[in-house]
Amino acid sequence: MELSGRKTLVLGAGKSGIASAKFLAERGAVVALHDKNPLENWSDEAKSLKERFGVGLIDGNLPSWLLDQIELVVISPGVPTNTIPARYVERKEGEVIGEVELAYRFLKGGIVGITGSNGKTTTTTLIGELLKDSGIETQVGGNIGTPLLDLTQTATDETWTVAELSSFQLETIRDFRPNVAVATNVTPNHMDRYDFFSDYAAAKHRLFMNQTAEDVAILNADDETTASWASGLKAHVSLFSVKKELDEGLFLRGRDLVSRSGGKEKVLTNRDEIFVRGLHNVENVLAAFAAGLACGASPDSMRETVKNFKGVEHRIEFVLEIEGVKFYNDSKATSVDATLKALEALSEEAGKTILIIGGRGKNAPYSPLIPLIEKTVRKLVLIGEDADNIESQLKTSAEIVRAGSMADAVTKSLENAEKGDSVLLAPACASFDMFKSFEHRGEVFKEAVLNLTERKLAAD
Ligand code: ADP
Repeated sequence: MELSGRKTLVLGAGKSGIASAKFLAERGAVVALHDKNPLENWSDEAKSLKERFGVGLIDGNLPSWLLDQIELVVISPGVPTNTIPARYVERKEGEVIGEVELAYRFLKGGIVGITGSNGKTTTTTLIGELLKDSGIETQVGGNIGTPLLDLTQTATDETWTVAELSSFQLETIRDFRPNVAVATNVTPNHMDRYDFFSDYAAAKHRLFMNQTAEDVAILNADDETTASWASGLKAHVSLFSVKKELDEGLFLRGRDLVSRSGGKEKVLTNRDEIFVRGLHNVENVLAAFAAGLACGASPDSMRETVKNFKGVEHRIEFVLEIEGVKFYNDSKATSVDATLKALEALSEEAGKTILIIGGRGKNAPYSPLIPLIEKTVRKLVLIGEDADNIESQLKTSAEIVRAGSMADAVTKSLENAEKGDSVLLAPACASFDMFKSFEHRGEVFKEAVLNLTERKLAAD
């Protein structure tokens, strides 16, 4: 792809837009970077692009004369694809693509692409580890951290790039073709951006659209939407299931994770060897195993890696054990559904759960939690803005304890726990009433748990 002298416009001055503007300018393109936010709110890195690379910076509204000159638009995942600049440039036969597509055109080696509504980050991280530990040159990025464009610098013909891809990123691909593509599941999500569930599912389906018979598509057989894709793909399909045995594919039988292919079976690992909790993580492990097998990773090495895989920070992350009580951080559980998953995951533990819940509510009912709370929760510890609302909805399902801060919640949780219990932070709410982000909330929780141990040790 020739970029030298090409007049380009990058929409959105976030992480992806910065990577794009820099990449294009370094290759001799004439670059304008646009963001609706006023310049004083841009990051220092974005602002420095002018001096470092001669990138034009435009905030607010785009000048009306500019679009007629633009030949290529690179659009960030946060910017809607039907935005006027994108539409006008496309209509005069300019190209409108996203950073993932741009990266693809310069990326050497193999690609594993992972999408889905839930489990993307966990599955992507695990696939990265499985390949690396198998001796395969591996790098991980995309939606998960390092923009794919930055990974083009380090990729060789032998490298496998493992990329987490959101539906927004997939909207703006054109030729992007992953050798191995994984869809973990498709459930209603981001319905603020899509009019219909089918539009959202269609964005995810684009991951497979350029694949050929040489490629592998890994699909969740238990998810109605992804299962329905299996018969229409050009790629070789590999299914996984935690609910049923498959004639071909990877599945859970009793406690064993089994692979069946051409009538031959192999036990890949056993549930008791998987450190990460919950059936949803068995799904992630099966998907990751399927991807690893497609990339030529060794099954024995993968078994060992899965055993040692501690999961991703803030996702039912085991923190530590105090006086026989285990503390788990699932700050990423910002919805009722995610809290439900976490409670389900811990229901396999011997003891009961002390659930720390609350924050900025999302106007979704908490009542779906009631059956599981009645079965598995010893106490509900309420924090944050939505505490009154949560109490009114859940007070019949378990005893309520109120806490004024995260530290207070952690202390009261331990006070109310019995040996063998788990304390779970899974707030079912956004964090912004008390914290900067869900990551910040998780950090504060972990710090409070560590402080509690230190206080206990000092007292003993
Ligand atoms: P994503 O990157 O898609 O947001 P994560 O791996 O970060 O997914 O997991 C986020 C949360 O989603 C987890 O805390 C867990 O509650 C839930 N989750 C993880 N994997 C799955 C799965 N396979 N199916 C359903 N829910 C899942």
